[in-house]
Amino acid sequence: MSSSDNVRVPHFIRNIIESDLAGGKHKAIVTRFPPEPNGYLHVGHAKSICLNFGLALDYHGKCNLRFDDTNPEKESEEYAQSIQDDVHWLGFQWNGEVHWASDYFEALYDYAADLIGQGKAYVCDLTPDEMREYRGTLIAPGKNSPYRDRAVAENLDLFARMRAGEFPDGSKVLRAKIDMASPNINMRDPVIYRIKRAHHIRTGDQWCIYPMYDYTHCISDALENITHSLCTLEFEDHRPLYDWVLDQLPVPCHPQQIEFSRLELQYTLTSKRKLNQLVTEKLVAGWDDPRMPTITGMRRRGYTPEGIREFARRIGISKSDNVVDMSVLEGCIREDMEVRMPRVMAVVRPLKLVITNFVAGETQSREAGFHPNHPEFGSRLVPFSKEIWIEADDFAEAPPPGWQRLVPGGEVRLRYSYVIKCDEVVKDAAGNVVELRCSIDPNTLGKNPEGRKVKGVIHWVSAEHALPVEIRLYDRLFTVAEPDGDKEHDFREFLNPHSLEVLSGWVEPAVRDVPPETRYQFERLGYFCADRRDHKPGEKLVFNRAVTLKDSWTKEQG
Ligand code: ATP
Ligand code: MG
Repeated sequence: MSSSDNVRVPHFIRNIIESDLAGGKHKAIVTRFPPEPNGYLHVGHAKSICLNFGLALDYHGKCNLRFDDTNPEKESEEYAQSIQDDVHWLGFQWNGEVHWASDYFEALYDYAADLIGQGKAYVCDLTPDEMREYRGTLIAPGKNSPYRDRAVAENLDLFARMRAGEFPDGSKVLRAKIDMASPNINMRDPVIYRIKRAHHIRTGDQWCIYPMYDYTHCISDALENITHSLCTLEFEDHRPLYDWVLDQLPVPCHPQQIEFSRLELQYTLTSKRKLNQLVTEKLVAGWDDPRMPTITGMRRRGYTPEGIREFARRIGISKSDNVVDMSVLEGCIREDMEVRMPRVMAVVRPLKLVITNFVAGETQSREAGFHPNHPEFGSRLVPFSKEIWIEADDFAEAPPPGWQRLVPGGEVRLRYSYVIKCDEVVKDAAGNVVELRCSIDPNTLGKNPEGRKVKGVIHWVSAEHALPVEIRLYDRLFTVAEPDGDKEHDFREFLNPHSLEVLSGWVEPAVRDVPPETRYQFERLGYFCADRRDHKPGEKLVFNRAVTLKDSWTKEQG
């Protein structure tokens, strides 16, 4: 954990926890992070992870990881594994073993039988259409199911036979008997078990009935002695049901459900279903495509766990809308990488520059520190030779006002090296600049030129020594702030066709053998990360730009 992790931003959930601890309601807190293993986690989940695990750390409590695995058809081992990897990568460790709602299937079944025994649940044979009709609407109360008054013994028998596989899928459900006239539709005799012959990733074909989320979640919380069950605001209307179930049953404790607003990040999506669509329709390269807002995508792009945790801290926790601009996330990543990542030089749009007054075949190397404020990061030798690469857009024949980089006849300093003067511009038949011929002022190594000021400094690499590098630059995945906020247009219509640009560049030899996921600042270009999948040390170098050096994007838009 980094230093900013220790800065506690106050919010209403902290207030509740602190007063529960001070007033003796709890000796210690227990939270949980309860994902369904039906997709990869995204930046919204990161908010929830940082909240739940962060509170447990701050108050010396515990946080469980519990898979809410009650929808067997959509769930997979791959998703469950990825979620564990993501939580670890973000820097958190759950308490004890991973928990699964399916660990409680037997207990959940017994509790359901208990409800039936109390006359508080019944087997209902209405079809889904009839059920919808009986449910009523927001303004009209529902009607009682004709099966509502089945005798306890009959219900117990039918429920046991549902489990035994005597009835086809969807032909019967078990419902809680609460109140069909409740203004809260969730309380109108909600379904708590359904028949579904589906293979489950953990229980296999052992069960053909599965408990519903609302019924499962509160009991799982209680069985794990969760003290504060934190969830997003869409569950606010489910809280009466959460409390009702626990009030009826002899569970070990009654956790408090507290809702907070979900993170919505602009220019991207925080819907697992839609992200899944992007992956299955191959509109992105996979769940870990660096343009994806998934944790694994952000990781591959080069975002740091420290930066993401800082982001979660900065956006805060409340019940009001949490629509956040991408620049807030990028700012957190940038600030973290600025102080922690070593700096080297790379050229991503190379233009050949020949030093006419330097001896061919000779190499001069100069030592350069990896970070101006961190001598402890060490240094490397930066080789200089007759031919170098500079960035094509560091040269302009007709520069805009205020230009400080290279122009014909002008001077500029090569970072860590000489001041050079552009004597000649070489063009191809089409008139494109293909080479610059320059001369060094030999008297400018480590000192200012005499009698004149040279303001511009550009980065470069020695052509003889540089290593080829594949550079991947990323832009927003969508062209609009709320891609799923348009009623007429599908979110896929707003995909940004220019969100990925692949370039062939050159980088200093110092990075030759660095492993995947090594991060650098490439001077003047941004923060980069060696690709997790495609970067092969010493063989094929592939770097992703995680974030630019400055937030130029917000300004361009504004
Ligand atoms: P679904 O349930 O539709 O598959 P989900 O995004 O709710 O999607 P879960 O796996 O149920 O996915 O989420 C796990 C936890 O993460 C839940 O507590 C949920 O409230 C929280 N969470 C999900 N999305 C966000 C978000 N955008 N912001 C904050 N928390 C979120
Ligand atoms: Mg959910």
